[in-house]
Amino acid sequence: MHSFDPDKITLPSGHFINGQHLTGKGTALTVNRPSDGLRAAELFEADAALVDDAVTNADRAVRDSGWSSCPPRQRGAVLKRWADLIAADPLLAQLESLGSTRPIYDVVNHEIPFTAEAIRFYAECADKYSGDVLPTRDASLGMLVPEPYGVIGAITPWNFPLSMASWKCGPALAAGNAVVLKPSELTPFSTVRMAELAIQAGLPAGVLNIVQGGGAVTGSSLVAHPLVRKVSFTGSTATGARIMSDAAFNGMKPVTLELGGKSPQLVFDDCGDIDEVAGRILRGFTANGGQACVAGTRLIVQRGVHDALISKLIELCRGFRAGVTWHDSSRYAPMIDRRQAEKVASVVSSARQQGAEVLVGGERFADTGEGYFWQPTLLAVNGSDNPAVQEEIFGPVLTVQIFDDEAQGLALASHPTYGLCAGVHTKNIDRALRAMRGIAAGTVWINRYGRSGDFIIPTGGFHGSGIGKDLGRQAFEACQRYKSVLIDF
Ligand code: NAD
Repeated sequence: MHSFDPDKITLPSGHFINGQHLTGKGTALTVNRPSDGLRAAELFEADAALVDDAVTNADRAVRDSGWSSCPPRQRGAVLKRWADLIAADPLLAQLESLGSTRPIYDVVNHEIPFTAEAIRFYAECADKYSGDVLPTRDASLGMLVPEPYGVIGAITPWNFPLSMASWKCGPALAAGNAVVLKPSELTPFSTVRMAELAIQAGLPAGVLNIVQGGGAVTGSSLVAHPLVRKVSFTGSTATGARIMSDAAFNGMKPVTLELGGKSPQLVFDDCGDIDEVAGRILRGFTANGGQACVAGTRLIVQRGVHDALISKLIELCRGFRAGVTWHDSSRYAPMIDRRQAEKVASVVSSARQQGAEVLVGGERFADTGEGYFWQPTLLAVNGSDNPAVQEEIFGPVLTVQIFDDEAQGLALASHPTYGLCAGVHTKNIDRALRAMRGIAAGTVWINRYGRSGDFIIPTGGFHGSGIGKDLGRQAFEACQRYKSVLIDF
């Protein structure tokens, strides 16, 4: 049993700079618990001066400690120890569960193992990929020499605080950089513990730092700091655009941007077992209460299987129950806060005004007080211009559109703004590969939906869903810059 009493946990809500906790510095913001809306802690927002302390110190630490210049295998060994500590730390799991939308069951069985595995993956990358020796036309030897950037600024969202931190810190640290990470101001606690464990694992103090605060003050100060040489961001498309512009005007820094999505689930008549497909579709839009960038929130279903699939989905949606994240029996995530719940309500309401029909759900679970648990919702829509089809809702809302032939299905699958992921469900391999080619998305899942902890395949969006990749060897390589060397001898 992993249930715990949230009132018995001391929440680390301060900054973590140079291996030290720093509390009470900055303007106070209130952080609430998503499960019941009660106040969890005061968060002190880092201003530009404190961000400057963290970055300047990180820049010194990464060089003076030898982290950037030591044998890469040595860095890998520290990261492996860190992964082991992450996997074995009950407090880390509790902080994640209490402070975010993630039920403890999910945190223990998925979030923590996946976080540790991402760090292990990059521990193994540390000495596996190097530069290149190239045949040149007029020099005796040409080389491409990778080197770390120095300090990487990482900014993460609230939906998967530990995973997102591991995707940013793993490759950056393995490649020999220092990191100054700003977690979301809504979920500040678990990353502090994660950074503390990194020091216990042998990471030199100052190489991984956490600064707390919102985007306008702390986040923008981090992006603009002259010693931050690269920015790695995950969050909404609007914030990503702002960060890209700030990074360009403050030193032309490279950015990795993992942004929003509105991903289609394309189901053909020949999809196979309907119950199994319904399970995939259900998980795709209800995992973390739909608060996942990769959520498959647009069902585009061929007429022949429409009725059977919808009736199975309605039955499954009716089986969900709300419950606080710190009980072992809870499986379903609340909305992160009242604002997010109101956003879901407002899009559902405008969708209905514009002709959408609620097939199941459509409102909050009753009797959950200030915890905002939204019922899994199916909306039959009559046109792609419906707001529920256009907007990233970030809640458990699945729109349903019907198609007759393949070309029509593919046309409905494309989205004017986003291109993060897509699900294709068919037993016909030719059709599956045509659909894979035809959909503009950074990831296409065929007869499955979701990644489930395999980090060799990178992730990243097309169009408004982002630039660059997280995960895979590609993210490690993106944490290095390459120096071209020509030698005559
Ligand atoms: P958000 O854009 O509001 O905030 C993300 C982070 O950016 C937060 O830490 C926030 O404080 C910070 N921020 C805000 N304004 C900033 C600024 N001007 N300068 C610097 N930092 C700033 O996103 P959110 O609401 O926390 O997260 C939800 C969004 O994240 C969704 O759109 C979701 O699709 C996206 N997301 C994408 C991926 C992916 O891999 N593509 C993964 C998870 C979440």
